[in-house]
Amino acid sequence: MNITPINAFTDNYIWALHNDQHCVVVDPGDPAVVLAFLKAHNLQLSAMLITHHHFDHTGGIDELTHNYPQVRVFGPNNPKIKGITHPLTNADTFYLDDLKIEVSVMTVPGHTLDHIMYYAPDMLFCGDTLFSCGCGRLFEGTPAQMFDSLRKITQLPRETLIYCTHEYTQANIAFAETVEPHNKALAQYKLWVELQRSNNKPTIPTLLSDQLQFNPFLRVHDDSVQAFAQSIAGDLGQKTVTDPVQVFAALRQAKDDF
Ligand SMILES: [Zn+2]
Repeated sequence: MNITPINAFTDNYIWALHNDQHCVVVDPGDPAVVLAFLKAHNLQLSAMLITHHHFDHTGGIDELTHNYPQVRVFGPNNPKIKGITHPLTNADTFYLDDLKIEVSVMTVPGHTLDHIMYYAPDMLFCGDTLFSCGCGRLFEGTPAQMFDSLRKITQLPRETLIYCTHEYTQANIAFAETVEPHNKALAQYKLWVELQRSNNKPTIPTLLSDQLQFNPFLRVHDDSVQAFAQSIAGDLGQKTVTDPVQVFAALRQAKDDF
């Protein structure tokens, strides 16, 4: 099986899981680029996996279903998303028979309240929950919810490859450098990212074991990240910030303002 990014809009990736006959896409926001990919590779669309209700993740459901009436559409149990044939909740599992993959579902509220992600051994499709070196904005959920959702990711096997849905890595690194200016793993990763981007190549997927070394949002227990959160809280006249949820909330706010 291959996993190929289809570029969409300005910085979205629609992930295509495929063999030489069948294809499953994750978060098909733009139907045109998916149809072009399927045609170019002579593939049948067998399923769509939706992570949350934002239009850049759901905009292709209708037209792709029209083109492939047998397609199964997995997604959150949210009636606002039209066209879901298999609504899912936490700990659900399902089998993608064409690709022979057993998928398990985790609910991860934070970016939105309906957000779910899809895990199969060594691969995670996490939508807008975690990005390389960053995490999703809190449009609907609380910092405590997002912190809990990110903790579900950190509990996965370290060799898990993370397939998120935006190429935000360079901007995220610029923020992470302000949090941890002396993080050597971050400095090394930045060089690799610059090379990839200068060759117009994606920086995704990314290894969980790498993210744990330099993604500040996964490092709220680390002294240097706590010190950064404390420096912001000090500016706001607050006392000590050591509770991991408070550290996370301070980081997320600083990134919003960055
Ligand atoms: Zn989103």
